[in-house]
Amino acid sequence: MSSPSRPDTGSADPTGTTPVVGVLALQGAFQAHQAVLDRLGARTRQVRTPADLAGVDALVMPGGESTTMSRLLHTAELFDPLAERLAAGMPVFGTCAGMILLAAEVLDGRPDQRSFAAIDIAVRRNGYGRQIDSFEHEVDVDGLDAPFHVVFIRAPKVERTGPGVEVLARHDGVPVLARQGRVLVASFHPELTDDDRLHAMFLAMVPPSAARAA
Ligand code: GLN
Repeated sequence: MSSPSRPDTGSADPTGTTPVVGVLALQGAFQAHQAVLDRLGARTRQVRTPADLAGVDALVMPGGESTTMSRLLHTAELFDPLAERLAAGMPVFGTCAGMILLAAEVLDGRPDQRSFAAIDIAVRRNGYGRQIDSFEHEVDVDGLDAPFHVVFIRAPKVERTGPGVEVLARHDGVPVLARQGRVLVASFHPELTDDDRLHAMFLAMVPPSAARAA
């Protein structure tokens, strides 16, 4: 059940068709994502329960720790409902740990860690090396006219992309932003910069709410 104290935020919705964008709020950097989406005028909701999930039209899966999130998705009984929504085409934006959870194949994962296989990529957890905790860089992004400042924190490294996957940005030749259908993934943390362009790109992938209800 949603608790009244759980913040639903964003602009008023006079027509009832403005989509509700959920932010998976079990663990990790979810508040920073919600702040960016709010700044862009989206209606947002934190998702912790199956009921929360049923009320959203799209979802952001934040960075954090994918092994912990995988476990919490089970305890919250969210794994199967979320798998169903992803299979039904719900738009999703996964960053860092969120990208790992959406990948078809996870290398160097924990044996009990599960992922949704929503995008045909293989990722290696902490693939940039444990000695490099974090680093920053500018990358060119397809569809954006100026480079994006990317912040990597114990980031997953993309080691394979399937034929249906569109690579939107690379760092040293390695894909760091990719899309397949309505699934967008980044190995970095766009929510930790003042640059809202990737969240805006994701919101453009979300159809009006009525499309889901129909
Ligand atoms: N290394 C983390 C994991 O395996 C991801 C790090 C992050 O999300 N910043 O989940």
